[in-house]
Amino acid sequence: MDRRYRKAIIAANWKMNINPSEAKKLTTAMLKCSSAKDTSVVLCVPAIDLTIVKRVLRQSRIAVGGQNCHYEDTGAFTGEVSAQMLYDAGAKYVIIGHSERRSMFGETDEIVRKKVAAAIRAGLRPIICVGETEEQREMGITEEQIRIQVKSAVYGLDADDFRKVVFAYEPVWAIGTGKTATPEDANEVCKAIRACLREKYGARPSRGTSILYGGSMNEENAPALLAMPHIDGGLIGGASLKPEAFAAIVAATK
Ligand code: PEP
Repeated sequence: MDRRYRKAIIAANWKMNINPSEAKKLTTAMLKCSSAKDTSVVLCVPAIDLTIVKRVLRQSRIAVGGQNCHYEDTGAFTGEVSAQMLYDAGAKYVIIGHSERRSMFGETDEIVRKKVAAAIRAGLRPIICVGETEEQREMGITEEQIRIQVKSAVYGLDADDFRKVVFAYEPVWAIGTGKTATPEDANEVCKAIRACLREKYGARPSRGTSILYGGSMNEENAPALLAMPHIDGGLIGGASLKPEAFAAIVAATK
């Protein structure tokens, strides 16, 4: 990553793991990660864990985030959680458009766009996930696919709002599979994301946008991935449930 323009962000995605009764122990074990100075550490946790995680983290620099939100601010949407609710519970970030949401819960680019807008309205920083499937990579249309997702996600955002946005490049075939993109390939896609953002917002804002890599990142492959100029951090699933591994990934941003 280029430290002149961007701060590293390492975000945990606990997914639908960790009950509220287990969250205190895991969060306490994560406290050692806060010593990394120039790195923002975020725990994106199940909504029901937010309050307890936030309480454990109150003296630390580690932030909390949600993993999803509705695109409306309030209303009759039984079972849903709004961006405002996440913010009110102490979240700073929210993951939007994770491939599991896109593939299992029917989230389209249009829904992702509306959720990004809702997150920003509520005062949250959206971590917008984009990525190609294995089939799309084999067909050679990775960049086209990413460009559509990126452009659609930020459609309608003005320059001020855009400053709050974080992207995560997550090749779908690498999530939870143990397969990782090579640092060079991941860097190329992150560079393409930045180029796409530059077309819309100009050189300065795109240079300042953090673009994370996600997809089976662990303590072994993190140093090489994080050494690439366009990769500004990681969105970590499996390894974020192991405090030692997660701390090692945070340390690899130095
Ligand atoms: C993710 O869920 O965003 C992710 C990257 O998962 P994993 O690290 O387990 O591949």
